[in-house]
Amino acid sequence: MHQKPDADAMGSSLALYHFLKKFGHTVHVICPTNWAGWLDWMPGVDEVVDYESEKATAEKLLDKTEWLFCLDFNALHRTKQMEAKLQSLNCTKILVDHHREPQEEIFEYGVSNTAKSSTCEMIYDIIVDSGNKEKINIEIAECIYAGIIGDTGSFRFPSTHGAVHSLVASLKEIGLEHSRIHDLLFDNFLENRLRFVGYVLLHRMEVFYEYNTVLIAVPKSDVLKYHIKTGDTEGLVNYPQAIQGIKLVALCIDRDEERKWSFRSKGDFDCNSFARKYFQGGGHFAAAGGRSSDSLDETVKKFKQVMKENKELLQ
Ligand code: 5GP
Ligand code: MN
Repeated sequence: MHQKPDADAMGSSLALYHFLKKFGHTVHVICPTNWAGWLDWMPGVDEVVDYESEKATAEKLLDKTEWLFCLDFNALHRTKQMEAKLQSLNCTKILVDHHREPQEEIFEYGVSNTAKSSTCEMIYDIIVDSGNKEKINIEIAECIYAGIIGDTGSFRFPSTHGAVHSLVASLKEIGLEHSRIHDLLFDNFLENRLRFVGYVLLHRMEVFYEYNTVLIAVPKSDVLKYHIKTGDTEGLVNYPQAIQGIKLVALCIDRDEERKWSFRSKGDFDCNSFARKYFQGGGHFAAAGGRSSDSLDETVKKFKQVMKENKELLQ
């Protein structure tokens, strides 16, 4: 899965893990970095190896790997410090992903489908299309459901086609408690995170009506002041989308090693191309990310400049 995984990355990896184990395979899940506390309830998460903190263990497993499944990312650099190791492996590499422009040459097999709501939906399809629908148990169902509600914004993004609702109906039939999963993902923060969101929306948000754009730039001092941990900033970029007429929301967070960008759009503005062109990133049409090694002030200055250059696309 990609670094700092979201519910879709962790959910799809664990769903596939539970599924493959049913056939007697030896399966390990490796995460490139640590992950948000709101993923800790997922069935199987205790078995996940954190590459950053357990590098020797992870590399030993990778050296013995015959099949490597890469889930919910399109390019090896999305695994950060794992990239070189993955590149060096001679095993069979298989991609299952729904991001744009995958690094096709890396993978022997795979499915990349940007029409899919989530990688979790794709894992469900693989299980069902292989004739193994009856193998979906409650653990697999919970992992799949988590990724779907994560990546569809709880069924509100355009990627929520009818098949997604049918899939969820079939998970309900085997006993999925959907509101419990929703609570575990979205109502599972500490007070500081909500105070942080309030503070940032009040003090760090700029609205450029002429460009239908909102920018939030979060300095390191806010991250420290509110004791922000991995996963606490998830969802922050969605709030400004509630403002009438807004087409693009950009969020930049000053992290230790880089300035991390998140982009969200409505309508016909392509975040993937924008992130790729200006901020070394990519992702989906309506949701993408990127990075910069410039200072926060510098990268924000660049953003404002390219926002102006893109004025026509933002109308
Ligand atoms: P988020 O803003 O939630 O971090 O990411 C939005 C989407 O873009 C996710 O699907 C994520 O996997 C993808 N994404 C985030 N950052 C990057 C990046 O730096 N490069 C690429 N290629 N995709 C990214
Ligand atoms: Mn995804």
